[in-house]
Amino acid sequence: MTFDAIVIGGGVVGLSTAWRLVEGGLKRVMLLEANLLASGGTGLGTGSVHTQRWQKTDTSLIGRSKRLMQEITDRSGGVFRLYPVGRLTLVGKGDVGTVLAYGDYLREAGLDAVELPPDRLTDRFPGLNVSDVGIGLYTKDDGTVYPSALIWAMAGLFRNAGGTIWEGCRASRIVFDGHRTTGVELANGDVVESARVVLASGVWTRKILESSGLGLALKHAVTHNTVVTVGRQDLWSQVPSLLDGVQGVIAIPRNPGTIMASNTAGEYGSDPETAETVLKTAHVEIRKNGTFADETALQQGQVLAQLRHRYRDYDIRSVVGHWAGLLDGTPDSNPYVGPYPGIDGLWVGCGLTGYGVQRGPGVGETLANFAMQQPLAVDVDTYSLDRFAPDLEFEIDMSGDNPFVGFQHEGARA
Ligand SMILES: Cc1cc2nc3c(=O)[nH]c(=O)nc-3n(C[C@H](O)[C@H](O)[C@H](O)COP(=O)(O)OP(=O)(O)OC[C@H]3O[C@@H](n4cnc5c(N)ncnc54)[C@H](O)[C@@H]3O)c2cc1C
Repeated sequence: MTFDAIVIGGGVVGLSTAWRLVEGGLKRVMLLEANLLASGGTGLGTGSVHTQRWQKTDTSLIGRSKRLMQEITDRSGGVFRLYPVGRLTLVGKGDVGTVLAYGDYLREAGLDAVELPPDRLTDRFPGLNVSDVGIGLYTKDDGTVYPSALIWAMAGLFRNAGGTIWEGCRASRIVFDGHRTTGVELANGDVVESARVVLASGVWTRKILESSGLGLALKHAVTHNTVVTVGRQDLWSQVPSLLDGVQGVIAIPRNPGTIMASNTAGEYGSDPETAETVLKTAHVEIRKNGTFADETALQQGQVLAQLRHRYRDYDIRSVVGHWAGLLDGTPDSNPYVGPYPGIDGLWVGCGLTGYGVQRGPGVGETLANFAMQQPLAVDVDTYSLDRFAPDLEFEIDMSGDNPFVGFQHEGARA
């Protein structure tokens, strides 16, 4: 079996790469997925899509992603869409200058960003407690998506254009002839041939590279998603996607009437399989006993208090649910996007931390452009793979490029 390109990983990066490859004119494109489509980080992602990022490359990638998402919406009859709840960043008095500069930066990038001092915040969101807020920044065109719907809509577009998807097919290693990529070996020993391979396997990317005799400085961290309900039904449309930089919490209204708050537990490592086992055990424990592990319960208590403080008049009820997943991170919290150094025909896209759904389609398009030797829509030089030694030891910092004071303390980030 020979293909024009093979993509490993059925998450947002892999699916969008595969889709853009067939749209770009490649006839025989194979996507290999070890489990089911969207069974990795993408299916567990909360789904916030917002343009409030600090790096120029990210701003461009998210811009591209939003354009591609609109195309997917149009072509999938609206099965997938972005729900524009808006993104609101709140910071304390000490961070006002930072937010004013941030607003200027976003507007220069062509985004509709508006600063909201406390009195205007109260006009716009009367039920919010802004007593400890210095200023807010609002981007009304941002919102939330169902990441799995994005995957399934792209899978449909990919397959309709002639692409091949093999679920339940684990890639065990990439095969080379010297420094030239020649294909992918599956778990049963079969080799699927191609001179182009794109590796988009999220937290498992390092493992696949190591089985292939290569390396990459990549680690995972566990992120929890705590779900609470909002009692005041008349205020359901008044819950923005919130980055509360005063308290250090991220809270997303993916489904109206609920708020999902993320925080990273601080457990990280480089063996995703061990972490997956720990997560599965935790989920079984929750289902059986209806209780959460001590550490998680503690975090949920903290999240609940933070939400009740901020959403003062919304009648925030107690925690109704929880799930957790793995994020992949790099030494500088920026992704890897581009060719694997010294190897022809191998490109990698991973390390998207807690912001992979919103950047994924842009990253996938970029990887497809690399693989087809077409001009890049986004300059991703700063995300090259050769910026760190593959065996570099590091700890993931999930606060990433987030400079607000509330995010400087332990355990408040995602
Ligand atoms: C709780 C949580 C909340 C999040 N919230 C947000 C958010 O609000 N907004 C946002 O933008 N991002 C969010 N994220 C992050 C986002 O979900 C991820 O960054 C993104 O989905 C990663 O996509 P990916 O395609 O790189 O990896 P994945 O989605 O993990 O896909 C990798 C795929 O590769 C497959 N695979 C692994 N090994 C092999 C192999 N050997 N052979 C074949 N296939 C293999 C896996 O099964 C998997 O399906 C969140 C993540 C979590 C966990």
